[in-house]
Parts: sequence; structure tokens; C-alpha cells
Amino acid sequence: MNNKNLPSLDTLESALSKLPGVGTKSAERFAYAILNLKEEDALAIAESILEARKKIHFCPNCGLLTESETECSLCQDDERDHSLLCVISSPKDFYPIEKSGSYHGLYHVLKGSIAISKGVDANDIGIEKLIHRIENGNFKEIILATEPTLDGETTAMYIANLLKNGPYQITRLGYGLSLGSSLEYVDGLTMERAFEGRRKI
Ligand SMILES: [Zn+2]
Repeated sequence: MNNKNLPSLDTLESALSKLPGVGTKSAERFAYAILNLKEEDALAIAESILEARKKIHFCPNCGLLTESETECSLCQDDERDHSLLCVISSPKDFYPIEKSGSYHGLYHVLKGSIAISKGVDANDIGIEKLIHRIENGNFKEIILATEPTLDGETTAMYIANLLKNGPYQITRLGYGLSLGSSLEYVDGLTMERAFEGRRKI
């Protein structure tokens, strides 16, 4: 960084380095690549960032990403099974589950997992809102699909304990998923098996 007399290039590099996995060197490479683009292509990148940030927000009901003004299309979809609720740790986990075609219920997205070592507790990830939704809903089964990591397990057990007296089944994905993996990278077949093999807790 520190380009002589090119403060706008410094600004671009420092903005790009905020992306995950982009260090100083990569930010520099991307910044030069952007400068080498045709002006219309560079502007298209800038405009698509603004547009996505402006239009996409979290569904107030389930927490999935949506461009809808009110609830997301999935929450409003009568073809989905409204008696099933799948709890996930991140909006990103929605895509591999949907792609596997093994689930047709509703979702609830938490803001991550409880991580005691990092000082993240139940309040920080929106568990209160989840419990409120379940207590005021008509669910037959709550599927805890938090990440197969130590924090994801802790979160699932915490939620299961809060819900243990409810009139619904609480299940956890039967993982052919290995502990420590990320749902984001699970293939369709493994996900399908994980849903088929979900167990009561
Ligand atoms: Zn929704």
C-alpha cells in the first residue's frame, strides 16, 4: 500500500482488504485489476455493490436474505410445509440445504452460534426471537441444523433445553457430516442423508 500521490488507490485497496481472505497483496492486485477494467465494467461493479446493499435485507420473520419489502417469498409460500422449522446459523447454510432438495419446510436463521470462548452468548445470536416464533407458531418439528462444530452443538443443546417441554419434536441433523465441517460445503447427497437420518434430542 502507500501509493505515492494516489490516495484514491490507497482508499480502494483499504476498502477491498475488508473482504474476507483478502490481504494487503490481494487488495493491491484487485485494485490494479479494477483500474485496468473498461470504465463501464468498473462502474458496473460499483453500482451492483450499491444496488445489492440497498435492496437486500434480512426477512423480519425468518432472517433469510430477501429483496421483498415484507416477509421473504419462502415465508409466504403455501407450498412449503409450515409445520417444519429448520434452524440454521447463517443465511449461507440455506443454499446447500435447498439445493439438496431434501427439505421443504420453513427456516429460522440465527446470527451465528453461541461461542463462550469469544463471549458470544444466546442474546447475541437472537435465540429469544427464535423461541418467541416457535411458541407462537404451529410447528410439529424443530430441526436444529446449526453447524457441526463445538459451538454449533452447544447452540443446538441450549435451544433443545429451552424447548424441551413444547408440543413438538426436536431433532438434530443425523450427520454423515464430520464434526468441524461447514454446512456451506456439504454436497447434496450428504445433506440428503443428514436430513433423512435426523434424530430426536
Ligand atoms: Zn422469511
